[in-house]
Amino acid sequence: MDQYDAIRQTLLNKRQELSRRLESIKSNITRGQSADSQEQAQELENAEVVDALGNEARIELNLIAKALDQIKNGTYGSCADCGRSIPPARLAAQPFAERCIDCATKVEARGRRPG
Ligand SMILES: [Zn+2]
Repeated sequence: MDQYDAIRQTLLNKRQELSRRLESIKSNITRGQSADSQEQAQELENAEVVDALGNEARIELNLIAKALDQIKNGTYGSCADCGRSIPPARLAAQPFAERCIDCATKVEARGRRPG
């Protein structure tokens, strides 16, 4: 635990920021209902946007949890495909990178087939 300390700290900060954001999103959703039907429609629309934001935050929180787990288990920073170490510069830029640049390029070249 050492070479990834900086990344771990970044992830922890990010997690805190996202949790706070989720909290404020939630309090926005639950804030009072208005009697005016036009306002209600507007509120519904807002709720949808807010929900999408919330989902994004949740997805990112999952990635952070996974990365933190991997750091703890010592599996962080290994390419999911070829098992080689992912260069620290790549991880610094993309803390959730699961593949080395070679494999990531190959995956992208294969296109976005399901699975
Ligand atoms: Zn690889």
